[in-house]
Amino acid sequence: MPGPVVVTGGSRGIGAATARLLAQRGHAICLSFVHDAEAADEVVTACAAAGIEAIAVRADVSVEADVVELFRTADAELGPIAGLVNNAGVVDRQARLEEITTARLERMFAVNVTGAFLCAREAVRRLSTRHGGGGGAIVNVSSRAAVLGAPGEYVDYAAAKAAVDAMTVGLSKEVADEGIRVNAVRPGLIATEIHAQGGEPGRVHRLAPTLPMKRPGRVEEVAAAIAWLLSDEASYVTGSFIDVGGGR
Ligand code: NAP
Repeated sequence: MPGPVVVTGGSRGIGAATARLLAQRGHAICLSFVHDAEAADEVVTACAAAGIEAIAVRADVSVEADVVELFRTADAELGPIAGLVNNAGVVDRQARLEEITTARLERMFAVNVTGAFLCAREAVRRLSTRHGGGGGAIVNVSSRAAVLGAPGEYVDYAAAKAAVDAMTVGLSKEVADEGIRVNAVRPGLIATEIHAQGGEPGRVHRLAPTLPMKRPGRVEEVAAAIAWLLSDEASYVTGSFIDVGGGR
């Protein structure tokens, strides 16, 4: 039986699709959410329907005490974890750099960067053979924006995801001989509610014709790449990136 996995931001979008797929593959799931308890409960119910133990924990990844409690709850209710999907992330209203405030920057980096680091830290403390763990895998959910830069929309978000990419490379080497693989997916334009946060719910439809594949991606298409990186099929893959961007 594959071990329990913590999926941050597992209540909606890519995280929810990943939690459902991992549950189908036999992983117990501990998902985190902040606002949408109803959506989180739906994912838990779907996992339970597949005969899999799943719990939802309200935990803001940018708050250290919440992250510590998230992993403590996973330990207590599901047993030793085998993996982390570092998925929780936010954008902000589309804006040019000269309009970006300090408050916005602080939130952007607190959730997307500090949150990813804190969760990776808690996972390494449990998985690393150096700490008596049995090894495992971490998958960071970055973005094609880290490479493309998101000009005119959210350069700050792109920079935050570039930090996640750098962490993926560095951490993968740091823990490679401690039984932990660290990889990332870089989704492109995926149809989720995150685009409404940027102030343009229809963003995927506006941009779809500009993509080589001429369509947005589906959450299941990202979840499949995440699940593969987490699985033993990727046993010799670490410090790697899978772009799930329809060619862009
Ligand atoms: P989404 O539909 O907006 O879902 C975001 C999820 O993250 C929700 O479950 C939300 O929970 C949770 N979340 C938000 N802030 C959080 C926080 N501070 N602490 C813990 N959980 C938090 O977003 P998505 O499109 O699935 O995005 C998932 C990841 O993929 C993000 O890292 C995003 O940057 C990345 N990504 C998305 C796209 C895309 O086109 N959709 C492209 C590239 C990368 P609540 O509902 O409870 O707040």
